[in-house]
Amino acid sequence: MNYYVMTLFPEMIDSTLSHSITGRALEKELIHLESINIRDYAQNKSRHVDDYIYGGGSGMLMQVEPVWLCYKDLMTRVSGEKTRVLYMSPLGKTFDQKMAEDLSKSENLVFLCGHYEGIDERAIELINPEPVSIGDFVLTGGELPAIMMIDAITRLLPDVLGSDDSAVYESFYQNLLEYPQYTRPPEYEGLKVPEVLLSGNHKLINEWRRDQSIKRTKELRPDMYERFLTQNDICDKIENVVNEEIER
Ligand code: SAM
Repeated sequence: MNYYVMTLFPEMIDSTLSHSITGRALEKELIHLESINIRDYAQNKSRHVDDYIYGGGSGMLMQVEPVWLCYKDLMTRVSGEKTRVLYMSPLGKTFDQKMAEDLSKSENLVFLCGHYEGIDERAIELINPEPVSIGDFVLTGGELPAIMMIDAITRLLPDVLGSDDSAVYESFYQNLLEYPQYTRPPEYEGLKVPEVLLSGNHKLINEWRRDQSIKRTKELRPDMYERFLTQNDICDKIENVVNEEIER
């Protein structure tokens, strides 16, 4: 996976992602990360990349030219069907685990990070990126959203986590939240690890985990629980149709 981040703050991207799991993925060359400084494409002596907003209003806007030149230059090196260009923006579709899974199948991901009051609309028209939001709140820049997305996508890539299952049986898998987990000691401050987890009976352990996941999801995320029920209902219907076909 190749990540390209177009930003005014490349050091934010590089320093944050050089740690922990993403840091190791970089070292092992499981991912490639390039932060491109949009300011390098400023066509003026003072290297400014922002200006006042036409029509008035507070704040400054990133200018079209440096963003467009930066993108065009990047595209001379990055291409292919499996390239997606994402614009970090509160206007976009909200990023979630499903989108992370979908994006993890790409070869090249380009992240365009805005700053100040955002980017001149003509740059967005020229580039035509997919807008992606990380939630209904406004941040100062697109760097943190890009970092979050790169982190979430990277842990889904082959060989990044220790076990292939690590990323599969987690929250949001099959519209369920993760079950409670414990490690040693078996008892602390009078609180015991549930007996079943010490039983060594994997069938019972799996059943307990699934029950706990369902209970938690129902309590904490009723919206997700509804999706879980619908999904199970659809699966049951498909199974019934298949069984009927087999019987015929
Ligand atoms: N004036 C813009 C608006 O009202 O939509 C907000 C601009 S914000 C201060 C500056 C930049 O931060 C945006 O261009 C975008 O790249 C990034 N940003 C802010 N909030 C975000 C969010 N929730 N998701 C993704 N990117 C965000």
